[in-house]
Amino acid sequence: MNTDKESSLSNTKIIYDITKFSHLDYPDHLSCIVWFAGCNMRCVYCYNKEIVLAKNGHYKIDDLLSFLRSRIGLLDAVVLSGGEATDYELKDLCETIKAFGFKIKLDTNGTNFENLRTLCEAKLIDYIALDYKAPKNKFKEITASIKFEEFSKSLNYLVQSRIDFEVRTTVHADLLDEEDINCIIDDLVERGYEQKYYLQNFRDTGTSIGSLQSASKSLESGLLSDKLQIVMR
Ligand code: SF4
Repeated sequence: MNTDKESSLSNTKIIYDITKFSHLDYPDHLSCIVWFAGCNMRCVYCYNKEIVLAKNGHYKIDDLLSFLRSRIGLLDAVVLSGGEATDYELKDLCETIKAFGFKIKLDTNGTNFENLRTLCEAKLIDYIALDYKAPKNKFKEITASIKFEEFSKSLNYLVQSRIDFEVRTTVHADLLDEEDINCIIDDLVERGYEQKYYLQNFRDTGTSIGSLQSASKSLESGLLSDKLQIVMR
């Protein structure tokens, strides 16, 4: 039987949009992307402003499930993104997605630790892309949130649980410099992270939350730490 919380979730339009096909977002997989409405952060470089600020989306869970039923055998994975997907309790949804035979990738800022852990402990997530937004001393400036400790719990949990995941940082070089990136790398190494570390450049779409323009400089790769393998996207 559904709890009140679960049934109100399925009756609410929590999905902003669905990208029906992507072969880029989950490498080596044909996936669709589910964009959940709303986010608990306000990153200055975020270009998904409409999704982040949306009170409601356009689709209910049932709409998504109808779509996914029609894609069985055509896609092999579902990417849960947003906004921030873990702002919602997604265990039931993920169980249904898995029952359909899809893998699940989760894009997350890591600041809803309990929801993340629930999904991972139930073995519902196949791959996670975790945003490491900024070193602790710049976290609030970049994200307008004070959730570094919650993010930190998620990062430790993922490292220790050996779940397949990557860490990535969006870089606007006027906001994060080489010293900041090296600080993140040192922290990752100290916690036991050994995988690739992805840096993705800020994209100037003219619509970012902080109305940012392109950075006046680029990171100097020669000044970056070699303690982890860095991959530029
Ligand atoms: S970039 Fe920041 S504000 Fe935008 S969706 Fe991700 S966590 Fe939310």
